[in-house]
Amino acid sequence: MGKRVLLFPVPYQGHINPMLEIAAILHSRGFSITIFHTSFNSIDSTRYPLYRFILVKDGEISNQLGSLDDDMVHRVIAWNNSCEQLFYDCLTSVLSEKNEESVACLIRDTHWYNLQYLANRLGVPTFVLRTGSAATLNWYLTFPQLVQKGYIPVQESQLNMPVIELAPLRMRDLPRFGNCNHEVIGDSLTHSMDAIRASSGIIVNTFDAIESTEVEKFQKAIPVPVFCIGPLHKFTPPSRSNLLDEDGSCLEWLDKQAVGSVLYVSFGSHACMKFEELIETAWGLADSGQPFIWVIRPGSILGKDEVELPDRFIEVISGHGKIISWAPQQEVLGHAAVGAFWTHNGWNSTLEAICEGVPMICRPQFADQMGNARYVTHVWKVGIELEGKLERGEIVKVIKRLMKEDEGVQIWQRMRALKHEASLSIKSDGSSSINIDKLVNVISSF
Ligand code: UDP
Repeated sequence: MGKRVLLFPVPYQGHINPMLEIAAILHSRGFSITIFHTSFNSIDSTRYPLYRFILVKDGEISNQLGSLDDDMVHRVIAWNNSCEQLFYDCLTSVLSEKNEESVACLIRDTHWYNLQYLANRLGVPTFVLRTGSAATLNWYLTFPQLVQKGYIPVQESQLNMPVIELAPLRMRDLPRFGNCNHEVIGDSLTHSMDAIRASSGIIVNTFDAIESTEVEKFQKAIPVPVFCIGPLHKFTPPSRSNLLDEDGSCLEWLDKQAVGSVLYVSFGSHACMKFEELIETAWGLADSGQPFIWVIRPGSILGKDEVELPDRFIEVISGHGKIISWAPQQEVLGHAAVGAFWTHNGWNSTLEAICEGVPMICRPQFADQMGNARYVTHVWKVGIELEGKLERGEIVKVIKRLMKEDEGVQIWQRMRALKHEASLSIKSDGSSSINIDKLVNVISSF
């Protein structure tokens, strides 16, 4: 008799992609897949004919939360509280089906913490998927204590102070979530961590060679089984779960560029910039003389519905710059013409850059991005941070440092070594492949 795995991603791009990658891995190991998704950012199920999709009809709740769209912490809290009955109904209805296949387990995102207790009540073994790094788990564990000790909210004068408990982070690298109150953030993180304690284990999109120390530290604090099975995207074909239409024309454009010459610029699915920053970025890229692809997502310029580029900009960059609204990012990073990635350091983007050996210019904005950038620049030393006010002259300087100067050559060499480590982890005897086997065995035993 076959077994079914239920999956429940948080409905944002950086959370949906890794969950669908797990779906692909488990499907290839013979499990049937059922995916719960919300009306908000619902997944296009027609792209996945082999899976079953169940819509959690949270439409009314999401509409009421419309004003919280930019505030992920409040949205996650509200979803957890308001959707409990909906989750319960969906789960019980699947569990009560007379089906050839029994439900083996549920895999939920870290942020669906209330779901853990529902699943426990219904007797469904549940794993947590951490779509971010293992290090973030330690930051999230420590965050409420830092609030209690009065370190958070961080004082302007202490931004560069090291956080002893979380080396190599400085105060400025601690997780930040817009204007959300730090006590609310602390409470939400405590809920998330407590729910991990109540789970059957945690799956982390990372690999031993980059984060074994962080995993050990976390496991001491929360002794549940940990399965590091990343980089997940390297076990599956490129993602088809885009919420925006991707522009594949950039790949043909890349074919015409010299090897290692192109700077790829993209800030993921949430990060936004002010109009003044758009202008500085535009002229910084143009003045650098470096070929570039720049993803400007619709709605990513604060206060503007339409993207307004400076006069003459398109004319100036014609031939060496390409602007698109969404890229097939994994393929772009894997293209031989791409030599550097200016990123916001979302964890997926960071891992994707490591896997393709592409050095980074780091410009983090919120959540775990600052901490990820700190690891990139100070632990693995495969990127340079672009700190301070965004200004065209500084942009040109940092592009030159990374793409033209000796410093960039050394960074590139370290990045090649890291790419190699990533490739070893996914070989059949690599750490992540072994951990996938262990996970599959555990799930099969339920
Ligand atoms: N992405 C993409 N095309 C783009 C920009 C981003 O396919 O033009 C994908 C990227 O490959 C990654 C995800 O969107 O898998 C973004 O996740 P990440 O954790 O980097 O950042 P977030 O969007 O969560 O801030």
